[in-house]
Amino acid sequence: MTGRGRALDVEVVLDRLSAFYERGDWRVPYLRDHAESPFQVLIGTILSQRTKDANTDRAALALFREFPDAASLAAAPLERVERLVRPTGFYRVKARAVRACAQELLERFGGEVPRSMEALLSLPSVGPKTANCVLVFGFGIPGVPVDTHVHRIANRLGIARTRSPEETEAALRRRVPERYWAPLNPLLVQHGQNVCRPRGPRCGACPLEDLCATGVALARGRPPPRPEDAPRRPPGPAARAAPRRRSRAR
Ligand code: SF4
Repeated sequence: MTGRGRALDVEVVLDRLSAFYERGDWRVPYLRDHAESPFQVLIGTILSQRTKDANTDRAALALFREFPDAASLAAAPLERVERLVRPTGFYRVKARAVRACAQELLERFGGEVPRSMEALLSLPSVGPKTANCVLVFGFGIPGVPVDTHVHRIANRLGIARTRSPEETEAALRRRVPERYWAPLNPLLVQHGQNVCRPRGPRCGACPLEDLCATGVALARGRPPPRPEDAPRRPPGPAARAAPRRRSRAR
């Protein structure tokens, strides 16, 4: 069985992952243990883009010690914010992003984080994943945050057949009963960091091997049923130019 998104499959998947990660010393996604308010979820998620959890953790904890809310962060000296978020990489961009976000919260929402998807998406540096994280981890409102781990594993399992995290979010919202949305992201992110890694998934150690389209195929020495659907971005100018350069070389 490859798990084409039926409710029973999702329930079994999540039950098995919960049991699996209750044992052992596994890495835990940042947001699960450290965010204390919707504001911290929002800023922590922006900081987490393209960096490791450990770096997000260090930077976010240091930032929130000095600037725990929108009012204080909005008024913070940019150089100080840059210094605090430096462990996350792209620190100049991220410092501007989190301060601008805090300023917007202050100006438009009285310093409070809004509770609707539409309002969250109107904030600078907030995309669907970040907005969903705020809803789920900040407010306990059902949402489906999809990062590269969730996108990859949903496709490997066969719960989704999609080309982008946005398509995966739509597929999961359609196919996964709402009562399972909350644990979906933390468990799949944890699984993606520890076992179902981008390259070289450890299927032999995975509690989902017999349910998973990819795991079953690999265990039988066959290729997965279809190529993995890595996130596909529109080609930029350099990518569009590359084939022309190659064809001229031939
Ligand atoms: S069986 Fe392999 S591909 Fe499938 S979820 Fe587990 S680690 Fe990932």
